[in-house]
Amino acid sequence: MQSIVVLAGGVGGAKFVGGLVGELARRHPDASDRPAVKVIVNTGDDMWLTGLRVCPDLDSIMYALAGVNDAERGWGRAGESSRVSGELAAYGVGWPWFTLGDLDLGTHIARTALLRDGLTLTEATARLGARWHAGAGLPATLLPMSDDPVETHVRVTIDGDDALLHFEEWWVRLRAGIPAREFVQVGVESARPTPEVLAAVAAADLVLLAPSNPVVSIGTILGVPGMREALAAAPAPIVGVSPIIAGAAVRGMADSCLAAIGVETSALGVAGHYGARSTGGVLDAWLVAEEDAAAVPQVHALGIRSAAVPLWMRDAATSTALAGAALDAAGRQ
Ligand code: GDP
Ligand code: CA
Repeated sequence: MQSIVVLAGGVGGAKFVGGLVGELARRHPDASDRPAVKVIVNTGDDMWLTGLRVCPDLDSIMYALAGVNDAERGWGRAGESSRVSGELAAYGVGWPWFTLGDLDLGTHIARTALLRDGLTLTEATARLGARWHAGAGLPATLLPMSDDPVETHVRVTIDGDDALLHFEEWWVRLRAGIPAREFVQVGVESARPTPEVLAAVAAADLVLLAPSNPVVSIGTILGVPGMREALAAAPAPIVGVSPIIAGAAVRGMADSCLAAIGVETSALGVAGHYGARSTGGVLDAWLVAEEDAAAVPQVHALGIRSAAVPLWMRDAATSTALAGAALDAAGRQ
């Protein structure tokens, strides 16, 4: 095996990719025969904020792989301060409920500078990743799903009126407390997967769907025109990992996203939503939690191979074990 592609959102994706990189280093101590990992990352949460291009999911994964993420808080950089945000708030600029730390702002300024110099988001992402680990770079290549801007907006009703909010406003400010009526991927019609993404999928020996939000992370990636076709044609097996354990989103509010699109919050519900590749979907295999072992035969009945394994990623050990289970599931193909 030479090349592994992962589709991922932010925090769930970061934990899974971190585990995968750790497991591959364990299985292949010699770096020269270690499979390369390429992560196709959701950019639907991206936005312009205080004049800067902010890419939450790319940054969650970059910080985690660089070892500088705030694991306790679950997002952003460890050891952050917020002096600049304090100034922005005093000027009344930006979103006061979406604090950007000082170190984090350094990332957004650097990205925006690179984009204004004419780099694509893919090129800018590579430049940002190159500085970590004393210039050795990240242990995985991060590929934005598209270089074309796509922004997930959420249709809600506020005081009887129809409103379309940026996903982060609904998610972070409103804590998904108002029911979503619809998710709209603004700009998606004219977006395309990048050449790097298409080449990675075509050349992969294994494609993994991280246990990321099925609607606004993986769903957004799959919504880019051409992406489903690329996966359908991929020679590699496609193995997904359930983000739902025992009928609940592990952390966060993925259930409110699933409810909005009429999908049951269960490992089986998400498997059915992704569908078997043999019937026009994207999955060849689906890992469910041990708590959901009863769903294994039902997933099989959908035409998707399935196994029940420990799905909680509590620390490095449980994350690498889950990645190992995903590698083994592919091996049983
Ligand atoms: P976001 O972009 O930061 O929201 O992160 P993702 O979309 O990558 O992942 C969010 C999802 O990860 C949540 O909906 C959870 O269901 C899932 N998740 C978080 N922690 C775990 C875990 O330990 N195990 C599993 N299986 N899923 C998890
Ligand atoms: Ca996200």
